[in-house]
Amino acid sequence: MISFLPLKNITLSYNDEVAEAIKRVINSGWYIQGQENTTFEHNYAKYIGSSHCIGCGNGLDALTLILRAYKELNIMHDGDEIIVPANTYIASILAITENNLIPVLVEPRGETLEIDDSLIEKHITDRTKAIMIVHLYGRCAYTNNIGDLCQKHNLKLIEDNAQAHGCRFGTKRTGSLGDAAGHSFYPGKNLGALGDAGAVTTDDEELATCVRALANYGSSQKYVFDYCGRNSRLDEIQAAVLNVKLRHLDDDNSKRQQVANYYYNNISHPEIKLPSQLPDENNVYHLFPIFCTKRDELQNYLTQNEVQTLIHYPIPPHKQKCYNGWNNISLPITEKIHKEELSLPISPVISTDNVKRVVELLNAF
Ligand SMILES: *Cc1c(COP(=O)(O)O)cnc(C)c1O
Repeated sequence: MISFLPLKNITLSYNDEVAEAIKRVINSGWYIQGQENTTFEHNYAKYIGSSHCIGCGNGLDALTLILRAYKELNIMHDGDEIIVPANTYIASILAITENNLIPVLVEPRGETLEIDDSLIEKHITDRTKAIMIVHLYGRCAYTNNIGDLCQKHNLKLIEDNAQAHGCRFGTKRTGSLGDAAGHSFYPGKNLGALGDAGAVTTDDEELATCVRALANYGSSQKYVFDYCGRNSRLDEIQAAVLNVKLRHLDDDNSKRQQVANYYYNNISHPEIKLPSQLPDENNVYHLFPIFCTKRDELQNYLTQNEVQTLIHYPIPPHKQKCYNGWNNISLPITEKIHKEELSLPISPVISTDNVKRVVELLNAF
């Protein structure tokens, strides 16, 4: 079986370093908010190119904390609107609704899969407070047009960088392009922990201080509570693992880029469509999506031939039961993506032979 993402093999490729890091934490006797956390926050802020990094429990919390902090700082209020791509993973939208803010869903472009920046301006109202871009599939979603719209309408730019650690726009990394970014280190992400983990990056010191307090019960001084916060901290074992894996992230991403380039150069089936190809620096290939009107048939065929694939995602957010009021919104491009998308195996550890095998099977479909 060619695995979609062999997490065990990925972990084993750093086995000694990871084991050493975990042992160091065990022996330190300090398990929450210690040296590993401080080191990771420093290293990751430097890697992303932001002045501040705050470790937290997971990616959903990172996004939720950013919006909550903007509310505590009186920049956002209940009922304000946040523009977000309609085809995102549901966590981007949950972070908005959990804060009593209103997500305004904007269609992506079919070729790029990222929010269509030509559709954003007509969705801006006097309640709009931010654009949340999501670097889906590992592709950079930022455009100069989006930056200009934020300036022109005085909107915050929030990045959901859960799928794009290491991706660039020009000389900057995604996660440093806007006012604040949420990052997830869920095990399957490009930079993945061995459990849940996340972080916020920002250059805004006031926001950073507020997020840090909110993630720690609303406290910046022990037993003194400025906000009704939550408990969302990055624990020392995960921080230690992330410190190891961050050192290998660029290498891992370049292996993903090699696999992706092979797919782009060799997949030639007339009924299989690929998204537009970006320069390597603008895509860290968290996923490799392909599109086929016979998607389910194609997936069964690959499964029968021992190739594991996944669908990202089978049901778009506006069709989910949890948002049942939105069922009559029409978002045809988003719905088409969810109907036709299939993600091929891609990872830093997939062998050349297996990549070739996937392509041969696809072309023979
Ligand atoms: C994974 C993911 C998240 C949520 O991260 P968790 O750590 O699982 O909470 C948010 N947004 C996107 C786009 C994601 O892919």
